[in-house]
Amino acid sequence: MAVLEILTIGHPILTKKAARVEKIDDELVRLAKDMIETMHRAPGVGLAAPQVNVGKRLITVDLSVGENKDELLILVNPEIVRQEGESVCEEGCLSVPDIREKVTRPYRVLVTAQDLEGQDVEIEGEDMMARVLCHEIDHLEGKLFTDRLSPLKRSLLRKKLKNTAGAGLKL
Ligand SMILES: [Zn+2]
Repeated sequence: MAVLEILTIGHPILTKKAARVEKIDDELVRLAKDMIETMHRAPGVGLAAPQVNVGKRLITVDLSVGENKDELLILVNPEIVRQEGESVCEEGCLSVPDIREKVTRPYRVLVTAQDLEGQDVEIEGEDMMARVLCHEIDHLEGKLFTDRLSPLKRSLLRKKLKNTAGAGLKL
Protein backbone atom coordinates (compact mmCIF):
# COMPACT_ATOMS: atom_id res chain seq x y z
CA MET A 1 0.00 0.00 0.00
CA ALA A 2 1.04 3.55 -0.57
CA VAL A 3 0.14 6.99 0.65
CA LEU A 4 -0.98 9.07 -2.33
CA GLU A 5 -0.71 12.80 -2.85
CA ILE A 6 -3.94 14.62 -2.05
CA LEU A 7 -4.64 17.34 -4.61
CA THR A 8 -5.83 20.72 -3.40
CA ILE A 9 -8.27 23.34 -4.66
CA GLY A 10 -7.21 24.79 -8.00
CA HIS A 11 -6.39 21.40 -9.55
CA PRO A 12 -8.68 20.84 -12.57
CA ILE A 13 -9.62 17.22 -11.75
CA LEU A 14 -11.40 18.43 -8.60
CA THR A 15 -13.98 20.22 -10.74
CA LYS A 16 -14.60 17.37 -13.21
CA LYS A 17 -17.33 14.76 -13.07
CA ALA A 18 -15.79 11.34 -12.39
CA ALA A 19 -16.49 8.36 -14.65
CA ARG A 20 -18.57 5.35 -13.61
CA VAL A 21 -16.53 2.27 -12.71
CA GLU A 22 -17.43 -0.41 -15.27
CA LYS A 23 -15.04 -3.09 -14.12
CA ILE A 24 -13.63 -3.81 -10.69
CA ASP A 25 -10.12 -5.03 -11.43
CA ASP A 26 -6.86 -5.37 -9.47
CA GLU A 27 -5.96 -1.80 -10.26
CA LEU A 28 -9.16 -0.49 -8.68
CA VAL A 29 -8.69 -2.70 -5.60
CA ARG A 30 -5.14 -1.38 -5.21
CA LEU A 31 -6.39 2.18 -5.59
CA ALA A 32 -9.02 1.59 -2.87
CA LYS A 33 -6.36 0.25 -0.49
CA ASP A 34 -4.06 3.17 -1.19
CA MET A 35 -6.96 5.59 -0.66
CA ILE A 36 -7.68 4.04 2.74
CA GLU A 37 -4.08 4.41 3.80
CA THR A 38 -3.98 7.98 2.47
CA MET A 39 -7.25 8.86 4.26
CA HIS A 40 -6.08 7.39 7.57
CA ARG A 41 -2.69 9.04 7.35
CA ALA A 42 -4.10 12.51 6.51
CA PRO A 43 -6.05 11.99 8.84
CA GLY A 44 -9.51 12.27 7.33
CA VAL A 45 -12.92 10.61 7.57
CA GLY A 46 -13.50 10.38 3.83
CA LEU A 47 -11.70 10.47 0.50
CA ALA A 48 -12.84 10.43 -3.13
CA ALA A 49 -10.73 9.13 -6.03
CA PRO A 50 -10.53 12.52 -7.85
CA GLN A 51 -8.70 13.90 -4.78
CA VAL A 52 -5.84 11.51 -5.58
CA ASN A 53 -5.97 12.33 -9.30
CA VAL A 54 -8.16 9.42 -10.47
CA GLY A 55 -11.39 10.39 -12.23
CA LYS A 56 -13.38 7.34 -11.13
CA ARG A 57 -16.48 6.97 -8.97
CA LEU A 58 -14.85 5.44 -5.91
CA ILE A 59 -14.96 6.75 -2.33
CA THR A 60 -13.70 5.59 1.04
CA VAL A 61 -15.31 6.60 4.35
CA ASP A 62 -14.26 5.86 7.91
CA LEU A 63 -15.63 7.95 10.75
CA SER A 64 -13.40 6.03 13.17
CA VAL A 65 -10.24 7.02 11.20
CA GLY A 66 -8.79 3.52 11.42
CA GLU A 67 -9.93 2.74 14.98
CA ASN A 68 -12.74 0.37 14.06
CA LYS A 69 -12.52 -1.91 11.01
CA ASP A 70 -16.33 -2.30 10.90
CA GLU A 71 -16.77 1.40 10.17
CA LEU A 72 -14.67 1.37 7.01
CA LEU A 73 -16.64 1.75 3.79
CA ILE A 74 -15.36 1.37 0.24
CA LEU A 75 -18.07 2.38 -2.19
CA VAL A 76 -17.96 1.98 -5.96
CA ASN A 77 -20.40 4.09 -8.00
CA PRO A 78 -22.18 5.46 -4.92
CA GLU A 79 -25.46 7.26 -5.50
CA ILE A 80 -27.82 9.07 -3.16
CA VAL A 81 -31.25 7.57 -3.79
CA ARG A 82 -33.12 9.17 -0.88
CA GLN A 83 -32.51 12.08 1.45
CA GLU A 84 -34.37 13.51 4.42
CA GLY A 85 -34.17 16.44 6.78
CA GLU A 86 -31.52 19.07 7.12
CA SER A 87 -28.43 19.58 9.22
CA VAL A 88 -26.04 22.52 9.42
CA CYS A 89 -22.54 21.82 10.62
CA GLU A 90 -18.98 22.99 10.09
CA GLU A 91 -17.23 21.07 7.37
CA GLY A 92 -13.70 20.86 6.05
CA CYS A 93 -11.98 19.04 3.20
CA LEU A 94 -8.51 17.57 2.74
CA SER A 95 -8.43 19.33 -0.64
CA VAL A 96 -9.25 22.74 0.89
CA PRO A 97 -6.65 23.01 3.66
CA ASP A 98 -7.27 25.16 6.73
CA ILE A 99 -10.80 26.20 5.77
CA ARG A 100 -13.88 25.16 7.73
CA GLU A 101 -17.34 26.54 7.02
CA LYS A 102 -20.91 25.71 7.95
CA VAL A 103 -22.61 23.68 5.22
CA THR A 104 -26.24 22.57 5.00
CA ARG A 105 -26.65 18.88 4.21
CA PRO A 106 -29.47 16.34 4.46
CA TYR A 107 -29.79 14.77 7.93
CA ARG A 108 -30.33 11.28 6.59
CA VAL A 109 -29.42 9.67 3.24
CA LEU A 110 -29.80 6.31 1.61
CA VAL A 111 -26.91 5.47 -0.71
CA THR A 112 -26.66 2.59 -3.15
CA ALA A 113 -23.29 1.41 -4.41
CA GLN A 114 -21.20 -1.66 -5.15
CA ASP A 115 -18.53 -3.09 -2.89
CA LEU A 116 -15.13 -4.25 -4.17
CA GLU A 117 -16.62 -7.67 -5.00
CA GLY A 118 -19.16 -5.99 -7.26
CA GLN A 119 -22.05 -6.77 -4.91
CA ASP A 120 -24.83 -4.18 -4.57
CA VAL A 121 -24.86 -2.54 -1.16
CA GLU A 122 -27.17 -0.05 0.55
CA ILE A 123 -25.90 2.32 3.20
CA GLU A 124 -28.14 4.41 5.42
CA GLY A 125 -26.31 7.32 6.99
CA GLU A 126 -27.44 9.80 9.62
CA ASP A 127 -25.96 13.08 10.79
CA MET A 128 -22.14 12.97 10.37
CA MET A 129 -22.30 9.83 8.24
CA ALA A 130 -24.85 11.43 5.90
CA ARG A 131 -22.66 14.54 5.73
CA VAL A 132 -19.50 12.61 4.80
CA LEU A 133 -21.33 10.50 2.19
CA CYS A 134 -22.78 13.67 0.58
CA HIS A 135 -19.40 15.42 0.72
CA GLU A 136 -17.56 12.53 -0.96
CA ILE A 137 -20.27 11.97 -3.59
CA ASP A 138 -20.09 15.72 -4.35
CA HIS A 139 -16.39 15.20 -5.17
CA LEU A 140 -17.45 12.66 -7.83
CA GLU A 141 -19.61 15.40 -9.38
CA GLY A 142 -16.66 17.81 -9.37
CA LYS A 143 -18.06 19.80 -6.47
CA LEU A 144 -16.23 21.03 -3.38
CA PHE A 145 -18.01 22.04 -0.18
CA THR A 146 -17.08 25.64 -0.96
CA ASP A 147 -19.47 25.43 -3.96
CA ARG A 148 -22.32 25.06 -1.46
CA LEU A 149 -21.59 28.31 0.37
CA SER A 150 -23.41 31.60 -0.22
CA PRO A 151 -21.91 34.00 -2.83
CA LEU A 152 -20.82 36.33 0.00
CA LYS A 153 -19.06 33.56 1.90
CA ARG A 154 -17.38 32.42 -1.31
CA SER A 155 -16.12 35.89 -2.12
CA LEU A 156 -14.66 36.25 1.40
CA LEU A 157 -13.06 32.83 1.08
CA ARG A 158 -11.61 33.70 -2.34
CA LYS A 159 -9.81 36.67 -0.77
CA LYS A 160 -8.57 34.51 2.06
CA LEU A 161 -7.31 31.77 -0.28
CA LYS A 162 -5.60 34.22 -2.63
CA ASN A 163 -2.73 34.61 -0.19
CA THR A 164 -2.18 30.92 0.41
CA ALA A 165 -3.22 29.00 -2.69
CA GLY A 166 -2.40 31.45 -5.48
CA ALA A 167 -4.60 32.97 -8.16
CA GLY A 168 -6.99 31.40 -10.64
CA LEU A 169 -9.23 29.70 -8.10
CA LYS A 170 -12.78 29.02 -9.16
CA LEU A 171 -14.81 29.46 -6.03
ZN1 LIG B 1 -13.41 16.72 0.47
